[in-house]
Amino acid sequence: MEVKVKNVRKEFDKFPALKDVSLNIKSGELIALLGPSGSGKTTLLRLIAGLDFPNVGAIYFGDQDASQKSVRERNVGFVFQHYALFRHMRVLDNVGFGLKVRKKGDRPSKAEIERRAMELLDFVQLKGLEKRYPNQLSGGQRQRVALARALAIEPKVLLLDEPFGALDAQVRKELRRWLRDIHDKTGHTTVFVTHDQEEALELADRVVVMSQGRIEQVGTPDEIYDTPNSPAVFSFIGESSKLPVSIENGQLYLADRPLGLDAKGVPDGEGQLFFRPHDVEVVETGETAIVGTVVVSRRTAGTRQVELEVGGAKERVEIEIPVDHPATSRSRIAFRPKKWSVFAG
Ligand code: ADP
Ligand code: MG
Repeated sequence: MEVKVKNVRKEFDKFPALKDVSLNIKSGELIALLGPSGSGKTTLLRLIAGLDFPNVGAIYFGDQDASQKSVRERNVGFVFQHYALFRHMRVLDNVGFGLKVRKKGDRPSKAEIERRAMELLDFVQLKGLEKRYPNQLSGGQRQRVALARALAIEPKVLLLDEPFGALDAQVRKELRRWLRDIHDKTGHTTVFVTHDQEEALELADRVVVMSQGRIEQVGTPDEIYDTPNSPAVFSFIGESSKLPVSIENGQLYLADRPLGLDAKGVPDGEGQLFFRPHDVEVVETGETAIVGTVVVSRRTAGTRQVELEVGGAKERVEIEIPVDHPATSRSRIAFRPKKWSVFAG
């Protein structure tokens, strides 16, 4: 099922949690909504679900305006971070719940519900646990039951709000890969909310970066990481280093020193240079490059991180250099980013 969000605005007591958000989700796609806490991810997910309604704009499921339809009419499945399973119900009954509460006529027989629930438990690799109660399961197992329950209704769209947020890092990583696998097998249109960039980049077909109630950028993980379209996205995704520069005749300067870097179409004036600390090459100090003095040098497992004073000691910038580089305190290093972005301002 294709989902279209069209110019949606959502206010809470005049506070705009979403400001003119538009997004097209393709059928069968796995989309990650990524952004810091408070950026509007959950609000957008709830509007897609039909748990809440926009003040302005519309939500389409396929060609149909679903804006005024209820959760049940939209037939969406959810998993939330703290979506408690029903504590007094066995795992099997939790999974079958969505089918059991269907209207007569739509409702499968008791035996059929049990058969489907068993099938789903097998699918999420929890066979044998059907008679347990939720408090007899680990956190990861509970979230897998929650996913089986969401899948039981054969949802048109699957919505997941930080489903692994409460689990420890190792389990999270495993479940993330497992979820991708489940998605590829079922082919459901899936929207996954996370504030963890690594999770979003690893899991999603496309990542939607949100900030302060707006969508900053939509793209594949490679596009988001390699060509962020704003300072906000560049700083939010991955490690980043930043320097104020000036642009003259399409070339970058730091404190009047040419850096040998192209401004990539950004007009002459003030600008900000962004690059990844690991994405630099060290050059001879005589060359056109960013030249700095080492103030901090840290050895990590695979690399050496150094902090340099540059631009007449006005700025500090971090880069990563090979471990065998003889960087000592106060030594001079010249480098050029291999990939970089420039933003005006
Ligand atoms: P995220 O999921 O990205 O952390 P939310 O969508 O939950 O962000 O919230 C976005 C903004 O809207 C926040 O500032 C939050 O405080 C506000 N907000 C969300 N839900 C409500 C609500 N029911 N009433 C008032 N403010 C809300
Ligand atoms: Mg949230």
